[in-house]
Amino acid sequence: MTQKINKKIAIRLDDFHENCDLKKWEYLVEELIKRKIPVHIGLIPRNRDQNIISKTFNFNHWEKALNWQSQGVHFWIHGFEHRLEKGSCYFSLSKKGEFFNDEIETIRQKISKSISLFNLNKIDITGFIAPAHGYSEKLLKVLEQNKSINVIWDGYWPAPKKHKNINLLPQQYWDIYPLFLLPEFSGICLHPSAMSFRKINYLLKKIDQLNISYFQFNLKNVKFKKLNFFDQIFNLFYRIIKFIKH
Ligand SMILES: [Zn+2]
Repeated sequence: MTQKINKKIAIRLDDFHENCDLKKWEYLVEELIKRKIPVHIGLIPRNRDQNIISKTFNFNHWEKALNWQSQGVHFWIHGFEHRLEKGSCYFSLSKKGEFFNDEIETIRQKISKSISLFNLNKIDITGFIAPAHGYSEKLLKVLEQNKSINVIWDGYWPAPKKHKNINLLPQQYWDIYPLFLLPEFSGICLHPSAMSFRKINYLLKKIDQLNISYFQFNLKNVKFKKLNFFDQIFNLFYRIIKFIKH
């Protein structure tokens, strides 16, 4: 009997840089590759965020990325230096982010540097993920005008959406929840360096309980529909739940 798969679960791993916990990263990425689960990684081109630096690890993250890319892993630009500052997000996702204090020209230069580093190191750009889910209006304008960036992966939307000229892939969760609770498309954000091996194994166990088709999606075939009133309600509902949970 074939099961009808009408929901998608997309896993992304954030904060890959030269001083992240490579042991955990290698373990999780390789386990996902083994299972044929699409792997999406938010790579920080030039990390300057002291809070996520591990003293134990220092390696060439571009070389590692190139190796993983040859095994089908997809890479997303995760800001430029991941220096977080306070600010208010256009989508109300966060009160922190990179670029909040920058003028549009500075943001443009930083994003160009990120793109150049990806190009120089032969890493294909799948899209953009803002550090700490922080999007200022200026950042959105820069991203909208940039031809190398076609998708942003963020926001509490029930399905892939379009806002102005920006394609938005939803990111609503930080864990895998029961299927009946999930909307049409679920984006799951994980930080491998901050996870224990036990937690990683628990996650893999949850993945193994689900039909692999839930995880298989091709970004090229994803349809981004215009944001509507229902999407705004969904967004508000998620923000209320998150507020209550905190
Ligand atoms: Zn990050």
